[in-house]
Amino acid sequence: MTDIKPQLGYIGLGIMGLPMARNLMNASYAMTIWNRTPEKGQPLVERGAELADSPADLAKRGPAVIFINVTDTPDVEAVLFGDNGLASAAKPGTIIVDHSTISPDATRDFAKRLAEQGIDFLDAPVSGGDIGAQQGTLSIMVGGRDGAVQTVMPMLEVVGKSVIHLGEAGLGQTCKACNQIAGMVTLLGVCEALALAQQSGLEMGKMIQAVGGGAAGSWQLTNLGPKIAAGDHDPGFMIDLVNKDLAIVLDAAERAGVPLQGTAQIADLFKQVAAQGGGRLGTQAVAKAIESAGGFSFND
Ligand code: NAP
Repeated sequence: MTDIKPQLGYIGLGIMGLPMARNLMNASYAMTIWNRTPEKGQPLVERGAELADSPADLAKRGPAVIFINVTDTPDVEAVLFGDNGLASAAKPGTIIVDHSTISPDATRDFAKRLAEQGIDFLDAPVSGGDIGAQQGTLSIMVGGRDGAVQTVMPMLEVVGKSVIHLGEAGLGQTCKACNQIAGMVTLLGVCEALALAQQSGLEMGKMIQAVGGGAAGSWQLTNLGPKIAAGDHDPGFMIDLVNKDLAIVLDAAERAGVPLQGTAQIADLFKQVAAQGGGRLGTQAVAKAIESAGGFSFND
């Protein structure tokens, strides 16, 4: 029996969206794309993707599943409900999958409004960075109606190596908020461990090696620790995006009545680094705030 694959749409071809859309095309899905800056879609057009003029134009071409991968909550809202947005033209039965990291509350609202038109809205934020997007090894945290999740599962499995359905709409974004809490508070611990090592005459590389193999080992220690020690602040994942994510996390926690003391502290340090012009540096550049507070430099 021939495997007839559904037509797909893709909106938002940035650092994450472009390689994820490319991986879907490599898996033989036909693709219509739209990007605010159309030139960024050119590599996919050269591989046979159709270029739409607007989200509404993309929806009119009738893809069964449409992926969104844009920056923040207002950007997803604009793509869905703005002038020439998807909601103005998508047919009932369409499934929209949002890979952006945005507010869980707004996600529930978008899902409710779209459900009134017979459209499923699934939140599917990702972890794993640009490398995970390129290699198809992302962790994907999914919220939304079970039947719709099952329909898109083969596509999510093309772009991710771990795909977990967490429950109703919004819970994928809540899980991504949990991911950011665990990751960023760990990074603060890594910075402080490196600071004590360096200021006590313990070689930072040896500390990373010794600690990394034990119970305090982490992705941040192994991958970002050596960069902090070397003063390498290139992104990776930019501080501007972390600040966006942590604002979402702190807002969600306040609504849930959960105090997040560690997260609030590292959020302040990220803001300090951004205020000093470091917004486009990688997350590990939060070490600069630790250096300022301690009056030393990691790579003296
Ligand atoms: P990016 O490279 O800056 O790309 C952002 C994309 O969103 C671009 O295509 C941009 O269009 C589009 N966009 C932004 N605002 C828009 C608007 N109002 N209307 C239409 N299009 C708009 O960002 P990214 O790194 O791919 O991140 C995308 C999402 O993934 C974000 O929510 C981010 O937090 C999340 N994420 C990123 C990473 C990472 O390592 N980068 C990891 C996990 C999750 P233009 O091309 O016209 O600017």
